[in-house]
Amino acid sequence: MKPQILTLDERLANPGDSLPFAGHMDDEGYRLGEHDFALPFGLDFDLVLTNAGEGILVTGIVRGHVQGSCDRCLDMAEFDVVGEVDEYYLFHDPGEVQGADEEDEVDYSLVLPDHSIDLTDALSSAVLMETPYVVLCREDCAGLCPVCGANLNHEDCGHAVQLEREAQRERMESNPFAVLKGLELSDGADS
Ligand SMILES: [Zn+2]
Ligand SMILES: [Zn+2]
Repeated sequence: MKPQILTLDERLANPGDSLPFAGHMDDEGYRLGEHDFALPFGLDFDLVLTNAGEGILVTGIVRGHVQGSCDRCLDMAEFDVVGEVDEYYLFHDPGEVQGADEEDEVDYSLVLPDHSIDLTDALSSAVLMETPYVVLCREDCAGLCPVCGANLNHEDCGHAVQLEREAQRERMESNPFAVLKGLELSDGADS
């Protein structure tokens, strides 16, 4: 994701000061696991920055329209994400807190020495959190035919019926009366 850095000014100089900060990021996309996602319209964010004494608290939302490929049929899958941003930027690194377990560590970032804060991670992790693990073009996507690869949302290649018939035949062959039934079936098919 493109870096989004905001320089703090006197509007946030005192504890209790808060400042709305909305904006747009032109972002081409991101990667999550094996998936590549495109953001054709970038990301829009709507945040409130608050001087909370020890640091700047950033809360709000980030939203975007996401394009990826369907996990079942490989066609384009589109969805909207609305992620919640909640990040604390401390003025001073508190260092190691004595007696605190590593698991207890509170998640925070730091205000940079030039009085700016880097919102990139906060925005991108909010988007990643809301990106589904399984991406489908639609909930009932029929997927691809395992025999010929046809997209079953668009065409019926007939293999599904054929596979079902074969499965039925296999079930009958494991039946002790299969020999008799098999004869009847092939008689029918020839006529
Ligand atoms: Zn699909
Ligand atoms: Zn097929």
